[in-house]
Amino acid sequence: MNSHKPTASLSLDLDNQWSYLKTHGDRGWESFPSYLDILVPRVLDFFAKRSLRITFFVVGQDAALEKNHDALRALASNGHEIGNHSFSHEPWLHLYDAQKVEEEIRLSEEHLARVTGQRTIGFRGPGFSFTDATRQVLEHRGYLYDASTFPTYLGPLARIYYFLHSNLSSQDRKQRGALFGSLSDGFRPLKPYRWNGKDGLLEIPVTTMPILRLPIHLSYILYLSELSVSLATSYFRMSLQLCSITGVSPSLLLHPLDFLGCDDKVGLNFFPGMNLAASRKVQLVGRVLDIYSSQFNVVCMKEHALSIPKSVPTLNSAKSFSPRAARNREMSFND
Ligand SMILES: [Zn+2]
Repeated sequence: MNSHKPTASLSLDLDNQWSYLKTHGDRGWESFPSYLDILVPRVLDFFAKRSLRITFFVVGQDAALEKNHDALRALASNGHEIGNHSFSHEPWLHLYDAQKVEEEIRLSEEHLARVTGQRTIGFRGPGFSFTDATRQVLEHRGYLYDASTFPTYLGPLARIYYFLHSNLSSQDRKQRGALFGSLSDGFRPLKPYRWNGKDGLLEIPVTTMPILRLPIHLSYILYLSELSVSLATSYFRMSLQLCSITGVSPSLLLHPLDFLGCDDKVGLNFFPGMNLAASRKVQLVGRVLDIYSSQFNVVCMKEHALSIPKSVPTLNSAKSFSPRAARNREMSFND
């Protein structure tokens, strides 16, 4: 236990092959193709070698299918936290009414508990989708934390890139209109806070670079590494330094495609970095996470949430992130 180091968390959104195809508007997702049998042994070995226990945000639909049960059980039996990543993984969750949102969260929770034995207490919305309706459901169901907010200005650019590399109809694009967030998301707080008072749901944002609000999650670092590996690692080191200076305890995000490469033959060639071999990706992710662990005591999201004091700032609504209001709020958050 490296208790002298500040706490930081690590999570992996276990988006499956079918959920990428579905969001991208590709055929074939309806049979729920899965790469969990390739991915899970690889990531379990990776984290065991580093003695890391992290949070896997799992999609309920995967737990509903027998073929994924062994892989999902293995995550829990290796000591990792299971988080709720909705049932259907629809990044347009924010368009649903409260009843449908409740169903998405409850159904996923039930399937995950049945298969992994863990009652989820943390949630991350698909595509960083988050609304007041989601917050209310999570509070009602006794969740400890939400981790759906992604404070970056680059969301709209990522969405344009994504649309340019897809064959989505105009209706599909409209449905996915909030994918990766809006410009005003860049003004959301970076440090943890609570919704509605000191007993409210805790929000742990996905960490982006303090001040500049550029992404620092591993898929982005891998993307930079295609330009230069030393540029990518320097960028990551600088981001962590800014976290230390501004007092941000980081929460870093991983995706399955950080560990899967062209040699795994899982398709998804529209995704940046899928031209690289898996071994190259795993090596770089290892290098970056070793930097992370050398500076922070890296724990799962639940442990991170429990280490955060009651007295963090509070917010009242997931809406109204106008740049001006958010900027004023930001000043009071001082990050
Ligand atoms: Zn996801």
